[in-house]
Amino acid sequence: MNDSTVEDCYRAVRRRIEAACARADRDPREVRLVAITKTVPAETIRRLLACGHHLLGENRVQEVLPKIDELGNEADWHFVGHLQRNKVRQVVGRFSLIHSLDDTRLAAELDRRAGEAGLRQAVLLQVNAAGESTKFGVAPEEVGPVVDRVAAFGRLELRGLMTVPPPAGEAEDSRRWFAGLRELRDRAAARSGLPLPELSMGMTDDFEVAIEEGATLIRVGRALFGER
Ligand SMILES: *Cc1c(COP(=O)(O)O)cnc(C)c1O
Repeated sequence: MNDSTVEDCYRAVRRRIEAACARADRDPREVRLVAITKTVPAETIRRLLACGHHLLGENRVQEVLPKIDELGNEADWHFVGHLQRNKVRQVVGRFSLIHSLDDTRLAAELDRRAGEAGLRQAVLLQVNAAGESTKFGVAPEEVGPVVDRVAAFGRLELRGLMTVPPPAGEAEDSRRWFAGLRELRDRAAARSGLPLPELSMGMTDDFEVAIEEGATLIRVGRALFGER
């Protein structure tokens, strides 16, 4: 990545998204790029905003809140990292989507704080597809019942599922996890009657495979901003 500019990288990622959509016979407008800006300074983020890209994501509350304050309402922020219950009050209403709802106690706290703030909070349920001990997320067999419980919270709007697959040697190794998430979503939607339209999956190393398997949100950092 080294001396490529953010502008060049952004255009290259856009072209790759379009090519993957063409291969999968999908409309590129169905796939939203979430630019993951962790460790990226506000001045670099501004250059991406100047390209006309406004959808950003971060995974740490302490790191992102100052950037939100600095960039104001120029950007649309998603939260993609593990969220501790004691940070919920700080995040509610500041992110148009939280990708990383990973247990029902967190859901209860989000619902309570969204109620206090007088708003509804959109969320995705994070799935620990491979059952890795190092990762957060609900187990695949728990998705159905957890979806039902989350759906019962009046202040939460459950929009779909998210996953981070195990580290892979090559992008193709991730395909089974992405296809698996789509199947879990289809089953949970049929069971709950909720549409669950969003599938958040795919990062720098495997976003094209994720698009081929139905991703509607891809979370890309390094391909835009270089190695961290
Ligand atoms: C950092 C991060 C990404 C982006 O990863 P890259 O490999 O830089 O594209 C995506 N999702 C989550 C949850 C992350 O923490």
